[in-house]
Amino acid sequence: MEYDVIIIGGGIVGLATAYQILQHNPGIKLTLIEKETEVARHQTGNNSGVIHSGIYYKPGSLKARNCIGGYNQLLRFCEQYGVRYELCGKIIVATSGAEIPLLKNLYNRGIENGLTGLRMLGKEELKEYEPHVNGLAGIQVPQTGIIDYKEVALMYSKLIQQAGGALLFNEKVLDIQTGSNKIIVATNKQAYPAKVVVNCAGLFSDKIAKLTVPELNVKIIPFRGEYYKLRKEKEHLVRNLIYPVPDPNFPFLGVHFTRMMKGGVEAGPNAVLAFKREGYKKTDISIGELMESLAWPGFQKVALKYWRTGFGEMYRSFSKAAFTKALQKLIPEIQSNDLIEGGAGVRAQACDRTGGLVDDFLILEERHVINVCNAPSPAATSSLAIGQTVAEKVLKRLS
Ligand SMILES: Cc1cc2nc3c(=O)[nH]c(=O)nc-3n(C[C@H](O)[C@H](O)[C@H](O)COP(=O)(O)OP(=O)(O)OC[C@H]3O[C@@H](n4cnc5c(N)ncnc54)[C@H](O)[C@@H]3O)c2cc1C
Repeated sequence: MEYDVIIIGGGIVGLATAYQILQHNPGIKLTLIEKETEVARHQTGNNSGVIHSGIYYKPGSLKARNCIGGYNQLLRFCEQYGVRYELCGKIIVATSGAEIPLLKNLYNRGIENGLTGLRMLGKEELKEYEPHVNGLAGIQVPQTGIIDYKEVALMYSKLIQQAGGALLFNEKVLDIQTGSNKIIVATNKQAYPAKVVVNCAGLFSDKIAKLTVPELNVKIIPFRGEYYKLRKEKEHLVRNLIYPVPDPNFPFLGVHFTRMMKGGVEAGPNAVLAFKREGYKKTDISIGELMESLAWPGFQKVALKYWRTGFGEMYRSFSKAAFTKALQKLIPEIQSNDLIEGGAGVRAQACDRTGGLVDDFLILEERHVINVCNAPSPAATSSLAIGQTVAEKVLKRLS
């Protein structure tokens, strides 16, 4: 059978794309191919579970537009299909004088991005929200929420199947052959002809893109984010979500506290170079994948520029005392033995050849193939908006 659309990757972005295509055009012949035994096994199932408000992102960027658009769509979706979420709000805390101007910039950015109800907080006002926090100033962001993105992904899959779409598990895409108006997607099991292919392969999106764009200019660099969990007796130290002021030169938000939808409080994630794309443990190493990251000219420039931050993150990864010290900036009472080792996620961060960690979402279009080449945080929050954008591109090609 020839498919109208084949989507590669059963993470939240691939699933949202399939869901949006079928919403707009229920008759379409669509299949999604996933190499694992179930959906959401990688970034989607191992993230912080935060519904981001959009405060951080450059006004007008794809991240800003899709985060805010996706946020609204996600809440409507959850209401309609009974997916649990909670808008508990968060605070961003400045702990040094140098961070105060950055905090003010963030506040202004939030206003520019259309957020309402943001509140600048003084030292004492911070304690109204989080009594154990010690900071000089902060911002309260009422829109931020928590959710379990695996539940969202499972609901997307259910609706895709109800609308006639197929999900194929345990099949790994190995090759894509493009002809004049047909494409063949070859997996380890079979070859499938299709009219349009969408690549949402997350940590392997560059590898899939290279099958049809050999001169691809970006590479996925995997950054592991490790978490600790707060011991049950210490969970009272955190009411909701407590974030530091992020380093504006770095695409990650800094270690923070997050109350989880499924219960408990997590601390983290840090951001260390993973020695394997799906390397969830420090001991996971793929020499080939590591050499590829190290040999990429763009990554070498990033490493030179941010070596100090990089080493700091690596040190914190191996030293629980150093990790605790970073958390103590926000909550001084936290002690090392309040923290138990948690899980980890690996971020797929695109890096271009000239040394830029690609800040915005990146969608590369060809005649028959659409490659989602950079969908880091807040892509889970934004999934329905990204899915809608890609769905429009697919439907345009099919018509
Ligand atoms: C530690 C961490 C914390 C985060 N926190 C948040 C947060 O709080 N809020 C937020 O909005 N975002 C957050 N994010 C970002 C968010 O999780 C990701 O942006 C989002 O999950 C990306 O989804 P995806 O579908 O692109 O990728 P993935 O979820 O990684 O899915 C890609 C899928 O493609 C499959 N695949 C790969 N290669 C092949 C192949 N050859 N054949 C078949 N299938 C293949 C993989 O098995 C995988 O299932 C976080 C990410 C991390 C790692």
